[in-house]
Amino acid sequence: MAATGKFSRKREAVLACLRSTTSHPSADWVYQQLKLEYPDMSLGTVYRNLAQCKQRGEIISVGFVNGFERYDARVTPHEHLICRDCGSVEDVFCLTLPEDLDTQVAQRTGAQVDSHALVFYGRCAACRKAADER
Ligand SMILES: [Zn+2]
Ligand SMILES: [Zn+2]
Repeated sequence: MAATGKFSRKREAVLACLRSTTSHPSADWVYQQLKLEYPDMSLGTVYRNLAQCKQRGEIISVGFVNGFERYDARVTPHEHLICRDCGSVEDVFCLTLPEDLDTQVAQRTGAQVDSHALVFYGRCAACRKAADER
């Protein structure tokens, strides 16, 4: 039982770390934050715990940015903006999307649609500003 407790303690740490930020970090970022406090935590452990959290519905995957999967502890429905220059992932709220979006897709495909994820790609405000000043 001791091993299970330790394992879940690490999962709690990974989850708390993810909940402490809105930056939608990668597994490596989480690992960098936790490795001092948990010297026996490997990057593999972080990946394994992230996968568990995802399976339990405690976090979501936002997708891959520059080859690295990015995670979000905010699990209520919202959209994302990914910057193609710096790789930042921002939350976008309160978009006026058609309420029957899932139904429309279900009708067109004959599938049962449970949820959707909408991602916008472009250049974030900070990168736009930096580009303007060059
Ligand atoms: Zn940017
Ligand atoms: Zn988000």
